[in-house]
Amino acid sequence: AVLVRRQMKRSGKWAKAMAILKEFEDKSVSPIGKLRQVADAMTVEMHAGLASEGGSKLKMLISYVDNLPNGDEQGLFYALDLGGTNFRVLRVKLGGKEKAVVSQEFEEVSIPPHLMIGSSEALFDYIAAALAKFVATEDEGSHPYPGRQRELGFTFSFPVRQTSISSGSLIKWTKGFSIEDAVGEDVVGELTKAMEKIGLHMRVTALVNDTIGTLAGGRYYNSDVIAAVILGTGTNAAYVERAQAIPKWHGPLPKSGEMVINMEWGNFRSSHLPLTEYDHALDSESLNPGEQIFEKIISGMYLGEIVRRVLLKMAEEASFFGDNVPPKLRIPFILRTPDMSTMHHDTSSDLKVVGNKLRDILEISNTTLKMRKVVVELCDIVATRGARLSAAGIVGILKKLGRDSAKEGAEQQKSVVALDGGLFEHYTKFSACMESTLKELIGEEIAQNIVIEHSNDGSGIGAALLAASHSQYLEAEEP
Ligand code: BGC
Ligand code: MG
Repeated sequence: AVLVRRQMKRSGKWAKAMAILKEFEDKSVSPIGKLRQVADAMTVEMHAGLASEGGSKLKMLISYVDNLPNGDEQGLFYALDLGGTNFRVLRVKLGGKEKAVVSQEFEEVSIPPHLMIGSSEALFDYIAAALAKFVATEDEGSHPYPGRQRELGFTFSFPVRQTSISSGSLIKWTKGFSIEDAVGEDVVGELTKAMEKIGLHMRVTALVNDTIGTLAGGRYYNSDVIAAVILGTGTNAAYVERAQAIPKWHGPLPKSGEMVINMEWGNFRSSHLPLTEYDHALDSESLNPGEQIFEKIISGMYLGEIVRRVLLKMAEEASFFGDNVPPKLRIPFILRTPDMSTMHHDTSSDLKVVGNKLRDILEISNTTLKMRKVVVELCDIVATRGARLSAAGIVGILKKLGRDSAKEGAEQQKSVVALDGGLFEHYTKFSACMESTLKELIGEEIAQNIVIEHSNDGSGIGAALLAASHSQYLEAEEP
């Protein structure tokens, strides 16, 4: 009788856990109709953000890039890519139309966590030191114009209000960075100060967001690239807009008639987004409550954390992992998205990989196959929602450009979207779902002309290309 009672109690708890999962799933679903509403809302907000400063949650930032690389870029340039847990320094030798990218070298340096929440000076001193070390490895005589100041393309992957192609002030931090005294400052000024302090004679000739760098790098190799999307620690998109379609731009009309826009779509928000209690809790406990809501349900920094939160609720309210709540499960951000991805992709029949991850990361042992299946299911719900919403975002851009439907009589033009970021690159189920949802939304016929292209680390090369096309020596070189 005791055994029967214990079993009944156990199955009651299982039912409770399943109810929690089911409720989360119901609130997370993104049927096609809802995705269309999200895409429409994205288009509407794009218009509003272009109309006036502060007109929308979408900042639609003007990049001052009105000419994308065309292949003529020449010389030796540096790039610095800062925006996640690592930063990269690059050296790129550009050989013009004939030779294209002659060589590129890079080094990756991780950012000590305390510097992500310390002072502006400490962060930039650290970066400048790493950059100086890298510059020192330049081969003697490899600089095509000895004596010239070295030039740098600075990819800074946070929202910046640009004042020119090579200056701009930080609007706010995202993705786990929080350095109060840098907000509102010119990030190029901060970097330049740090470089001068250590005698590194280098000038930033282009300050770009990673989406802009990726767009520039993508366009260099493929002239059909019209937009770039980052799905990584954070998420964002940039695209080529007609200058005439930017009412808030009061500067001179660029010769090209175009201007690249950094949407900062991570900050998009709409009543159509399928938000759950877990998302609200994650947001209010985050470093930036109320902000980056789209990013918080899509990007790599957060997906694993959402999974952890649902598992914690199941543990607390339905004893999912036994009578005690596993203490590690209470630690925010302990379950990283790469680990979630590994569990999600476990193809072993007994879900051994899932079991190992739960044991190694959360110190939960003795899970049953049934429990491990639930964990995979949960990963699937969270990844699917993020992937489908990012597809809806892309459709929003295509709509804004009038490229989401067939034009009567006209030959359908090709639209290439350059994608980059660890989430896109490594979380296969996520990217596959994003791409199939895109097809589902625009239909097979149009989909034939929409190409998603992985631009592998295009943002670094892109920044170097833009540094080249904005070089202070350009005029002098012209015959
Ligand atoms: C930042 C963007 C950036 C994106 C991807 C977001 O958190 O606000 O500027 O492009 O992450 O790195
Ligand atoms: Mg990459």
